[in-house]
Amino acid sequence: MSFASRVNHLKPEGAYQVLAHAQEMEASGEDIIHLEIGEPDFSTPSHISTAGMQAIADGKTRYNPPSGMNELREVIAQDAGKRRGISIDPAQVVVSPGAKPNLFLPALALIDQGNEVIYPNPGFPTYEAMIRVAGGKPIPVPLVEEHDFSFDLDVFDHLVNEKTRLIIINSPGNPTGGVMSKGDLEHIALAAQKNDSWVLSDEIYARIAFDGADVPSIATLPGMLDRTIIVDGFSKTYAMTGWRLGFGIMPLELAERINLLLTHSVGCTAHFTQYAGLEAISGPQDWVDEMVAAYQQRRDVLIAGLNAIPGVSCRKPMGAFYAFPNVKSFNLTSDQMANLILEKARVALLPGTSFGEYGQGYLRIVYANSMEDISQALERIGNLLSSQEMS
Ligand code: PMP
Repeated sequence: MSFASRVNHLKPEGAYQVLAHAQEMEASGEDIIHLEIGEPDFSTPSHISTAGMQAIADGKTRYNPPSGMNELREVIAQDAGKRRGISIDPAQVVVSPGAKPNLFLPALALIDQGNEVIYPNPGFPTYEAMIRVAGGKPIPVPLVEEHDFSFDLDVFDHLVNEKTRLIIINSPGNPTGGVMSKGDLEHIALAAQKNDSWVLSDEIYARIAFDGADVPSIATLPGMLDRTIIVDGFSKTYAMTGWRLGFGIMPLELAERINLLLTHSVGCTAHFTQYAGLEAISGPQDWVDEMVAAYQQRRDVLIAGLNAIPGVSCRKPMGAFYAFPNVKSFNLTSDQMANLILEKARVALLPGTSFGEYGQGYLRIVYANSMEDISQALERIGNLLSSQEMS
């Protein structure tokens, strides 16, 4: 069978491949600890689910405007604006089924054949996929461990030029948990202005930040609101991954184009899901803080445990729910390490290379999991990596 060249490069997300392998092992009786899938282990809070169910009972099960219902766009504009300290017009808000369409559709709207697009590597695999589907030229910028997994700015300076149509950033980041400093964002913002580039700022983990860390948004820097697409959503903040609800905030003219792309691709976002989203934003927020506090405790246990294993070193991530330990001292590829840990320690995690070539020598561990599972996983990994077999 032959397909259009724009889809030939597509690959599944690594997490689902590892999950499938782990499930095969489970089917043959192995007990596996799952630290591979990046989603909250918490259930959607009941006041949000109830609002969604009530909306279904009230018949909110029909088509609604492609960019989302006005009431929701208004509360998003207010809440997202207040949290970032900027003023957002509800017409700039585009609601979508999950955050992903607000990554993919702006890529389609902005990237022409051959346009250069800068993106983080290791980074969320959808970035490279959407750049290629849109016909752009992917230009990966390495994230450096010594710089809290922010951009290598020397390499960035070397790669950014007047052909750079779009710069993608993600802070707090998947897969590293790194948070980009205001200084780094200022540097990137200057380059974007100088080269007349757009910026897509994936801020889906903005509320999951630890130790009171400041997570600045590049959109708040002078002149940037006119050339930035903020992408955010409900999946991580409100433990709503399966509801499919996200949003983008962007200049009005671009929002109108994305509205058309939504019209002709997904039509609209489920109406009842948006009522659940309305309750998520308007209802009590304390439990978001509690969830983040729980992630922080788990992070502390995981990072201390990883650093206690000879040969492993792991920076303390300041956001999201991912640890990205350096395992270069074992002289194996990330793939070999991840397979060995799955086969012998029965812990499913991802090789850093699932997120691009610069993830070589690292593993990604999701700590949105119970403290028991995290402690158990540490013990199993520690025993394996300290064993004779590894020396
Ligand atoms: N951006 C990043 C960095 C992510 O990690 C994810 C989810 N894994 C998404 C976007 C997509 O979020 P959603 O489920 O809302 O589409």
